[in-house]
Amino acid sequence: MANLEALRSPLEFLRSRLADISHPELLAAEQEWWKTEGVKISEVIDRSGTPWVRMFDRSGKRVDEILYPREYWTILKRGYRSGVVWRALEEKSLIPTYQWMYTISFYDPGVCCPYTVSLGTAVPLAKYGSAELQPRFLPQLLRKDDSVWQGATWMTEIEGGSDLGAAVKTAARRAGDAWLLTGEKYFTSNAGAELAVVAARPEGSPPGVRGLALFLVPRYRKDGGLNYFIRRLKDKIATRSVPTGEVELRDSEGYLLGAADAGIYLILEVLNLSRVANSVVSVALAQRAMLDALEYAECRSAFGKKILEHALLTKQFEERLNGLKAAFALAWEAVRLLNDVWMEKPPYSERYHLFRLVAHLAKYWTAEFAVDTAKWAMEVHGGLGTLAEFGVERWLREAMILAIWEGTSHRQILDGLEVIERKQAHKMLFKELAEIAPGKELKETESEVEGLLKLPTDEKEARAESVFRRLAMLTAEELSQRYPG
Ligand SMILES: Cc1cc2nc3c(=O)[nH]c(=O)nc-3n(C[C@H](O)[C@H](O)[C@H](O)COP(=O)(O)OP(=O)(O)OC[C@H]3O[C@@H](n4cnc5c(N)ncnc54)[C@H](O)[C@@H]3O)c2cc1C
Repeated sequence: MANLEALRSPLEFLRSRLADISHPELLAAEQEWWKTEGVKISEVIDRSGTPWVRMFDRSGKRVDEILYPREYWTILKRGYRSGVVWRALEEKSLIPTYQWMYTISFYDPGVCCPYTVSLGTAVPLAKYGSAELQPRFLPQLLRKDDSVWQGATWMTEIEGGSDLGAAVKTAARRAGDAWLLTGEKYFTSNAGAELAVVAARPEGSPPGVRGLALFLVPRYRKDGGLNYFIRRLKDKIATRSVPTGEVELRDSEGYLLGAADAGIYLILEVLNLSRVANSVVSVALAQRAMLDALEYAECRSAFGKKILEHALLTKQFEERLNGLKAAFALAWEAVRLLNDVWMEKPPYSERYHLFRLVAHLAKYWTAEFAVDTAKWAMEVHGGLGTLAEFGVERWLREAMILAIWEGTSHRQILDGLEVIERKQAHKMLFKELAEIAPGKELKETESEVEGLLKLPTDEKEARAESVFRRLAMLTAEELSQRYPG
C-alpha cells in the first residue's frame, strides 16, 4: 500500500514535493485556522447559496450593495491580510502567493478566485499603470489590513468568452485624460470589487482581438457616484464563496493600461496569472477529494474488511496518488516559469512562450484531473457520496467550474496548439524534458506533435485533443521527477 499520509494536509503535501516552502510557520498557522474554523464557515457559505444584491438604499438611492453572509469577510480578509496578494509585489515573487493558494483551496477552492482576480488587477496596474494612476490606486490593493481593496477581471460578454475578439462590444470613448466605457459584462466574478480591469474596444480600433484594450475601472466615480452597476448575481453550482454577477457599464470612468493597441497582450498576461492559479487550485481540490475518499475508505467495511484494504481500491489509491504528484509537478512548473517571466512586456522572451505552453497544458490537465478525481471520490463513498451532508459532492461541483472558467479545456488545447505552431514552444519543452529523462516515449510524442502540425487546419483541430492529452500526461509524469519529495 502506498504511503497516503501526505494526503492529510495541504502543507505536508507541499513539503513532500517542494524543497523550499516560503514562510512555513505562517502557512502552518493558515492551515490550522482553516482546519479549526474556516472549514465550518466555508461549508455554511456553500450551503447558503448565492448572496443577493440590495440595489437601492432606504432613500431610494442606487447602491448595488452585495449582502454576504457576515462570515464571508472573516474568510476572505484573512487571506488578504496574510499576503496572498501583497506579498507578490512586495517580495517580487509569486511563489508565496501560489503556496498560500494551494493551502487555502484545499479547504475552499472558490475563495481563491477573489485573490486571483485581485492579483490580476494589481499586476497590470503595477506594470502598465501611468505615474498618476499607480499612486492613486495601487496602495489600496496592497494594504495589509481589512481596509484592503479588491480587484476583478472582466472580459466575457453575452456572446461568449472564448472568442473575445468577436464578442467584446463594450465601447470606450476618450474624455480628457480618462475614458468612458459603455457595455455589459456577462460573467463578473468579484462583482462589487473596488477596482476592475475591463476589456473594451476604443473608438476607431480595428475589429478582432487586436482592437481590444485594457482599462482600470473603479467602483465609484470621481464625484462619488456608482461607476458600474450590478444587474444581478448568478445562481451557480459552486464557487459560492465568490459573487459572480452581470455588470453594466454606462459611461463608466476608465483609465487605459498600457498602449491602446496592445490590450490583447495585457489581457493574456492577466489570464496567465489566473490560469496558473486555476492549476494550483485544481490540484489542491484533487488532494482534498482524495483525502475525503481515504477517510471514508478507512472506516467503511464491505465483504469482511475495510474497503480500503480491497485490492482494487488499494490499487486505485496508489495510481491516483501518482496522478496527483504528476498533476502537481505540471502545475508547479507553470508557477516556476511564470515566476521567471511575469514582469516581461512584449516583445517576449523564448522562455515566456515555453511558459505559455506549459500553462495551457497545466490548466487543461489539472482541471481534467480534478473533475475525474472528484467523481471518483464520490464513487468511493457509494450512494452516500451523492448526499450533500457528506460534502464530497461539492468537489465535483467546484471542479466543473475550474475546467470551464479562465478558458475551457477546448481553448487550452487550441491556444496550446497556437503557441506550438507559431513559437515552436514544443521544441523548448522537449529539450527541457530530455534533460530530465530522455526516452522512447518522449521521441514518439515529439513526432506525434510534428505530425499533427502537418495536417490541414480542420483535421489538425479535430485530432488535437488526443495529442495534447498525451503531451500533458507525459510532461506531468516526467516533471514529477523534478519535484520528488
Ligand atoms: C462561475 C464563473 C465565473 C466567471 N467569471 C468570469 C469573470 O470574472 N470574468 C470573465 O471575463 N469571465 C468570467 N467567466 C466566463 C468564463 O471565462 C467563460 O465562461 C469561458 O471563457 C467560456 O466562455 P463561454 O462560457 O462564453 O463559452 P463559449 O465561448 O460560448 O463556448 C461554448 C463552448 O464552445 C467551445 N468552443 C468555443 N470555441 C471553440 C473552438 N474554436 N473549437 C472548439 N470548441 C470551441 C467552448 O470551449 C465551449 O465548450 C466566468 C465563468 C464562470 C462559469
